[in-house]
Amino acid sequence: MSDYYEILGVSRDATNDEIKKAYRKLARELHPDVNPEAGAEDRFKEVGRAYETLSNPEKRQVYDMGGDPNGAAGFGQGFGFTDIFETFFGAAAGGQRGPTPRQRRGQDALIRIEVDLQEATFGGTRELQIDTAVVCPTCTGSCCRPGTSPQVCDVCKGRGQVQRVARSFLGQVMTTQPCARCHGFGSVIPDPCLECSGEGRVRTRRTIAIKIPAGVDTGTRIQLAGHGEVGPAGGPSGDLYVEVVERPHPTFTRRGDDLHCTLEMPMTAAALGTTVELETLDGSEEIDVRPGTQSGEVVTLRGLGVAHLRGAGRGDLVVHLSVLTPKALDEEQERLLRELAALRGEERPAGRMAPAQGSGLFSKLRDKIAGH
Ligand code: ZN
Repeated sequence: MSDYYEILGVSRDATNDEIKKAYRKLARELHPDVNPEAGAEDRFKEVGRAYETLSNPEKRQVYDMGGDPNGAAGFGQGFGFTDIFETFFGAAAGGQRGPTPRQRRGQDALIRIEVDLQEATFGGTRELQIDTAVVCPTCTGSCCRPGTSPQVCDVCKGRGQVQRVARSFLGQVMTTQPCARCHGFGSVIPDPCLECSGEGRVRTRRTIAIKIPAGVDTGTRIQLAGHGEVGPAGGPSGDLYVEVVERPHPTFTRRGDDLHCTLEMPMTAAALGTTVELETLDGSEEIDVRPGTQSGEVVTLRGLGVAHLRGAGRGDLVVHLSVLTPKALDEEQERLLRELAALRGEERPAGRMAPAQGSGLFSKLRDKIAGH
């Protein structure tokens, strides 16, 4: 990656104001409308990219740490500089006066990807094939057949607009309209590029690598600046949005950044206490089941849930214990259980009403689940 500080000619500890000033000065010098030198436009784009990154504290931090602030490895021409340019210098020329630029920003694109819980928790990278528009390799966006060039429109003389005098009952009124011959561009292309039919861009399929940050969830959108379609006449690319859809996991249910699962155990183990191995996303964990455990009790494993997308740390893994009553007892087992019941004076037990919801165990449980 290029050195953005060097491109803007500022020191690594430059303030936001210094960065802004440096960008403003360079952009004025290099803008393609004022600087016809070869390479000026490329430098203009480069300066825009450098400014886009360094003026944004989050992107600057990522960049300073050696990362790619646009989240995708080594790909493409992430411009996005037109917006910045316009904020500084006002709307692009061509609004009410002057010709309409042929180059326009490309459309944003949206694609959806499925991730599993493992990827949502720890993040990852993914190669994606996308159908998009790229700069035409034959005319490099000029829209002209190689060796030819646009010609100034002879109707509007390059102004892109024609004035008409209309007579109305108010008298003579001057109206301005886009030139019909050049569609307001101020120039015509007598010999359009054959590959792109004079569009300056062609459709293609390309593969990009995207980084999936830890903590994404269904509905999370990852923005890849400048990875959308290239615009007409090779205009700057739009952005690509990657929307995440999380596949359900067979045993873990996600609520926010917490994970919930149910661990079933035999009645005898719940009564006597034991330790149980539980396969978490981080590997095997031992769960302590204390003697006398009831169905519905929970054990919380701190920090073994999904990473927080914004901010550090992870949610919890909440294990709901479920006690299984033995079925299909053989003679010996039934005899032993009856013996146990007799010992505990439980041969004809009276059922006991549990507290209503909103008090005692139920509310505590509910709070625990809803608390995150
Ligand atoms: Zn072309």
